[in-house]
Amino acid sequence: MPRAAVGTARVAVIPGDGIGIEVTGEAVRCLRTAADLHGAAIDFVHWDLGAERFLRDGVTITDDEIRRLADNYDAILLGALGDPRVPDNAHIRDILLGLRFRLDLYVNFRPCELLDPRYCPLRDIPDGGIHIDIFRESTEGAYVNMGGHFKQGTPDEIAIQEDVNTRKGVERLVRAAFEYARAEGSRRVTMVDKANALPAAGALWRRTYHDVRAEYGEIESDVMLVDAMAMDLVRRPGRYSVLVTSNLFGDIISDLAAEVTGGLGLAPSGTLHPGRHALFEPVHGSAPDIAGTGRANPVAAVRSAALMARHLGHDAVADDIDRAVRIALAAGRITPDLGGTLTTVEAGRAICDRLSGPRGDACH
Ligand code: ATP
Repeated sequence: MPRAAVGTARVAVIPGDGIGIEVTGEAVRCLRTAADLHGAAIDFVHWDLGAERFLRDGVTITDDEIRRLADNYDAILLGALGDPRVPDNAHIRDILLGLRFRLDLYVNFRPCELLDPRYCPLRDIPDGGIHIDIFRESTEGAYVNMGGHFKQGTPDEIAIQEDVNTRKGVERLVRAAFEYARAEGSRRVTMVDKANALPAAGALWRRTYHDVRAEYGEIESDVMLVDAMAMDLVRRPGRYSVLVTSNLFGDIISDLAAEVTGGLGLAPSGTLHPGRHALFEPVHGSAPDIAGTGRANPVAAVRSAALMARHLGHDAVADDIDRAVRIALAAGRITPDLGGTLTTVEAGRAICDRLSGPRGDACH
């Protein structure tokens, strides 16, 4: 749900860890440049949250910081969190899951669009291209960390991990997916579940889906089992438009859909409580294996910044960034993960150089 572009938007930037820091630098550069070209007022405030801060001060994020992030900003731009020096990555749980749960960011929106056919790993690319918008529930499911161990460390150990599904949680997500489909003119909403093997959760999801879709009669709707969807996303991805699913299934199928449309280096996301709070971040993590090498692809972060600009009501800024990304990709101005030779900074600049402003002014 975009916010109207009035006054100066305030954005909290959390670069985080590893390649998060590197790609966020390029995302902010592109967004700042595009905003300047279009006369859009956006203030960026950097937040020192991540592994370095935790290792230095022993603090992940405080209640007061979560409150200030919630109250004082129109959106949060996050790089990625994760550092091998932090045991169990405790700071991810506190910062990322803390923000998701405390700000009740229940819609994880992951658009997977094939921007350029050469980055598709499939042999047969559908004629109409691939554009799948995934709505993943992000406050419930198997991620609520309810459960525990019994007889831990013994041969009789038992681990229980609960999967929480509420009528309210499912209904608001399904409604968000249909509202989006209606606003965007999407042809079909498909719900993905595993109702044959997980009948309790499945029944709740299917009943809710059935009730909500009745309000959106003009939009085609169907239901698919997640295993069949995994096959179909490879076999005929052009069939799908909007997918709505649980936290766990959404996590998995969105990585698959991202790969089919060019890989993690290109995949953006937004996690929102529509009308209240919004956080934007690339789908990928901190990738410790390539951190510091200059090989990180900044496009996913740049596209996340474009999603954020759209959310803030700056459509022209978002359109300009999306267009510049397409041109840079088409020109092969990319990082090694997509077969290019550019560094993270060079790839960011390649996009920035292709921003055109409202009258087609080149950016220098
Ligand atoms: P996390 O657990 O936080 O998701 P991870 O390293 O296990 O971290 P990702 O960071 O998502 O998983 O990355 C998986 C692999 O994909 C990395 O090892 C990296 O090689 C590659 N990768 C991820 N993001 C990018 C990127 N932006 N550019 C290039 N390669 C990337």
